[in-house]
Amino acid sequence: MKCCGCGAEKDMSVLETYPFPEDEIFCNEPIQPLLNLECQPKDKSGEWKLTIVCHECFKKLDPDMWISENCWIGINPIITFDKLPSLKATIGCTSLNIFF
Ligand SMILES: [Zn+2]
Repeated sequence: MKCCGCGAEKDMSVLETYPFPEDEIFCNEPIQPLLNLECQPKDKSGEWKLTIVCHECFKKLDPDMWISENCWIGINPIITFDKLPSLKATIGCTSLNIFF
């Protein structure tokens, strides 16, 4: 699976320790190499999107509960906001592989 931000290829079965110990999300336990993030559209009537990013991009985005469309654009992602799957479409999916 690829990071939607930088395009780094990650094997989801190989866990990695989050490399930024100063962050709140940090724990010593290895976690999945790609993390889900919800993206809020600039246009309030627009659709929320779901993205998946590596630890480095996650750090760059510095998310709170979710990120904004502008925040996503800010890291110059390989997958633009419009091309991300809608959050609604992904609810209840046990595997994100079909979207990314
Ligand atoms: Zn990345």
